[in-house]
Amino acid sequence: MSLNYILRAKKFKAKKSLGQNFLIDENVISFIANNAKKDDEILEIGPGLGFVTEQLIENTSKVVALEIDKDAINILNKNLKNKENFCLIEQDILKTDINSLPFTKDKIKVIANIPYYITSPILVHLLGEIDELTHKNRDRISEIILMVQLEVAKRIIANENSNNKEYGQLSILSQMYCDTEIIKIVPKNCFMPSPKVDSALVKFTINREPKVKITKLLKRTVKAIFMARRKNVKNSLLNAGFVNVEKALEKANIDKTARGENLSIGQIQKLSIALEEFN
Ligand code: SAM
Repeated sequence: MSLNYILRAKKFKAKKSLGQNFLIDENVISFIANNAKKDDEILEIGPGLGFVTEQLIENTSKVVALEIDKDAINILNKNLKNKENFCLIEQDILKTDINSLPFTKDKIKVIANIPYYITSPILVHLLGEIDELTHKNRDRISEIILMVQLEVAKRIIANENSNNKEYGQLSILSQMYCDTEIIKIVPKNCFMPSPKVDSALVKFTINREPKVKITKLLKRTVKAIFMARRKNVKNSLLNAGFVNVEKALEKANIDKTARGENLSIGQIQKLSIALEEFN
C-alpha cells in the first residue's frame, strides 16, 4: 500500500452512496495505467481522487474523465488543471454518448473503477443489447478495463462449462461482441474504504462482429432460458410464452430436460432459429 494514497484517501470523506472505494495500492494502480499505451485516448469513468488518472495522463495522449461528485471534481481540478491532455467533465456516464466527448481517434479505450451497483447498467450502456448489431458507444470502443466484484467477474467470463451457476445473461451480454478475461484479482484491502468482497479487473476486447449470427428471437430466447434457472429449457420457454417448444428443441437437437446453463451460445442461437420457425 502506498502511504501517499492512504493519506490522500483518508483526508476525503468517501460517499457510500456514490460507491466510493478508492484504490490505494500502487501496484494495482500502475497495473491499470500500464494497460494503456502512449497514443491511446482514454475515457476514465469515475476518476475519484485521481490516483489512476494521474498515471494515465503520463502514459497516454488523452484522458477524458467523467465524474459526478463535486468534492472529487474540486480536488481533481486543483491537482490536474494544468495538464493539457486531461479533460474533466461533470457528467453521469449513464447519460453520456461517447461520441459527444472530445476525442479525436476513431477508437478509444475505457478504464473504469466504478460503483458496483451500476455494473450491469454501465455494461449495457457501453456494449448495447445483444441484438444491436451496431451501437453508438460500443462502435467507438476498442477495449474496456473494468473493475468489478470478483463474483461478477466470474459471471462475465463464464460459459456452459463453468460451475456454480455463474453462466447467464450477463455472460452472454458480455461475450456477444467481446473477448473477456480476468486480468487481475484485486483483494479488498487494496481499497479505502475497504469493500466487503474482493474485486477483479476484467478486460473486454471488442470485436466488430457478434459471436453468433443474431436472429430475431435470440434476445427473447436468452432471457427465457436464464430467467428461471432451476427449470429445464422446455418449461422455461413455455413459461415465456413460446409454443411448439418440443418441436423446436428437437429441431435444434437439444434435450428437453437440459437446463439453460448447460447450453452454449451456439446452441442457444440454433434454438432461437428453430423457435422462430414454429412460433
Ligand atoms: N477511480 C477511483 C479509484 O480507483 O480510486 C475512484 C473509484 S470509486 C469506486 C467510483 C467513482 O465513480 C467515484 O469517484 C464516484 O463518485 C464516481 N461515480 C459514481 N457514479 C458515477 C456515474 N454515474 N458517472 C460517473 N462517475 C460516477
